[in-house]
Amino acid sequence: MKVLVINCGSSSLKYQLINMENEEVLAKGNYERIGQGNSFLTHKVNGEKYVLENPVDNHEQALEFMIEQLLSDKYGVISSLDEISAVGHRVPHGTDLFDKSVLITDEIKDLIASCTDLAPIHTPPILNGIKACEKVIPGKPMVAVFDTAFHQTISKEKYIYPVPYEYFEKYNMRKFGFHGTSHRFVSQRLAELMNKDVKDLKIVVCHLGQGASLCGVKDGKSVDTSMGFTPVSGIMMCARSGDLDPSVVTFLMKKEGFTPDEMENVLNKKSGVLGISGVSPDFRDIEKEADEGNQRAKLAREAYCYNVAQYIAKYAVALNGVDAIAFTAGIGENQINIRKRICEHLEWMGVKLDLEANQSRGEDKEISTPDSKVKVWVVPTNEELVIARDTKQIVENL
Ligand code: AMP
Repeated sequence: MKVLVINCGSSSLKYQLINMENEEVLAKGNYERIGQGNSFLTHKVNGEKYVLENPVDNHEQALEFMIEQLLSDKYGVISSLDEISAVGHRVPHGTDLFDKSVLITDEIKDLIASCTDLAPIHTPPILNGIKACEKVIPGKPMVAVFDTAFHQTISKEKYIYPVPYEYFEKYNMRKFGFHGTSHRFVSQRLAELMNKDVKDLKIVVCHLGQGASLCGVKDGKSVDTSMGFTPVSGIMMCARSGDLDPSVVTFLMKKEGFTPDEMENVLNKKSGVLGISGVSPDFRDIEKEADEGNQRAKLAREAYCYNVAQYIAKYAVALNGVDAIAFTAGIGENQINIRKRICEHLEWMGVKLDLEANQSRGEDKEISTPDSKVKVWVVPTNEELVIARDTKQIVENL
């Protein structure tokens, strides 16, 4: 069975075609700048990368062009559309309506559309992607996999916000959490790597990418997570603020005359490590500048590592102890120095890093010493594989 995984953003369409017999990625890519006049597709196949410029107006045209490539002599990996058995869609927000992946029906599409109020930027492109598949590759069973679903096990005293209860009732204002597909994959994979049942482990997963969140996982279930009502909360990120004194927001709006949209833009795109350093949202640049003596880059690095360590301690409380910490996503998998600095804050809880093992990047690896009370691992995430596996499982049981 071959499963096509689709991840639609407002101006992008990412995809992977996965052979589920051996979970091999046959082709993958990203269509960028859809509807902006200068769209291009980056298509990767057989270890080669091709950039194909082809302006498109919408997701449907993007999908059509991408499917042509999958079928083509030059870049193709399939000879007929019949080879695609099913499609899995990444859906960033399922509110509290979905606690697991589901087969997409008309009713499910309406339910996903009803999440638009809480995810106005992310939901419309998903619905466009679903519609595009119905037109371009009709008749394929499709599955929705939600970033929020894994966190539906978080209990109410952990997801409720201390604001008047009427806002929870009126707007469903509560913590939802995101990156659930990654937290689920990494916690299960870590248990496998440790030769343990995930049900016997208390794990803190640190998904540290452009967007970043931590999750406390016990019995294989999310107990608490750092992102909340929106993905701007929790730990500070590359360009997002993370948690703040709420008065910072109202103070700035008054002093700078920001509209709500302008304020959101500051919190989402100009804050975090970029905001403090003034250098870049990319940790590679931060490390370079900090090592060359840039004081604000050093400050941003220190603030980030302290912040992540604080949140790990938070989840030690939520889990009543920690057996293992897993680092994943761009920074977690690659930034050796950041992992080291975070772990230095955690020596009190029995974390001992093996500095040599920690030199590794982007591979499954235990990086704590054999006598470390809390085990520390690098576990590369693979959200697309989770989407493909869920799709296969649901479609096989139809
Ligand atoms: P993500 O959102 O998971 O793609 O993570 C993006 C961030 O990870 C970037 O801003 C970098 O700071 C970091 N990153 C990604 N790849 C590498 C790499 N090969 N080496 C060092 N840092 C990396």
